[in-house]
Amino acid sequence: MKKIIIANWKMNDSDCAEKLVQNHEKWVKKNCNIMIAPPYIYLEKMHQLFQGSQFGLCAQNCSQFEGNGAYTGEISAQMLKNLGVDSVIIGHSERRQYYDETNEICRMKLYNAVNADICAVYCIGESLETKQRNQTISFLNQQIGDVFTNFLYKRARIIIAYEPIWAIGSGLTPTFNDINQIHTKIKDIMNMYLPNQPVAVLYGGSVNGKNAPDIMATPNVDGVLVGGASLLYDNFTQIIQST
Ligand code: PEP
Repeated sequence: MKKIIIANWKMNDSDCAEKLVQNHEKWVKKNCNIMIAPPYIYLEKMHQLFQGSQFGLCAQNCSQFEGNGAYTGEISAQMLKNLGVDSVIIGHSERRQYYDETNEICRMKLYNAVNADICAVYCIGESLETKQRNQTISFLNQQIGDVFTNFLYKRARIIIAYEPIWAIGSGLTPTFNDINQIHTKIKDIMNMYLPNQPVAVLYGGSVNGKNAPDIMATPNVDGVLVGGASLLYDNFTQIIQST
């Protein structure tokens, strides 16, 4: 299966997308699907830029509310779909932390994404405190269960991104063995909620050109979600090279 690489630019500018498109021939041969998640305002421009290329367009967020309405500052999943967006990040730890996004809000967002036929990239991950208390698996189980209990959609496109909070932007990563074990467990849990529907599980948290080859080669890692290292073309393409 092709690896999935998602670039999460967060609230940053980058010229990485233009450079990727300029060097399209080089990257099209790689064994991976590359998606870029720029700030909202660049989505339209990047949709045009990516026409005819293999790069996918991802949003960093969508509203938990359906349809149109009096929700100042919000963008619906359907609006993203209309703009040409193919996937959306839901439940990133920064949104959980700074915007109080609960599992219930994530559930609403995920349903909206699925209804709009957008691939939902659902982020889960434990804090350092939870890890130190050896409660990682029960915490992830809860984050998944709160969203996928009674999930009735048969052909929803779902990706799980395992992003330990303590690894994001810190330069720290779990051991490869830990990543493998946790991803295996996540796949088992997802199989309970979505039987016979294999779900890709990405790793995220301080992925860079150096550690990417080992992370990509770790069993049960279907790709990576990259923050800081996705902003500069040279750094990001080192990660692509590792597939
Ligand atoms: C992220 O925020 O999703 C992320 C993985 O960030 P970084 O790669 O910078 O740790």
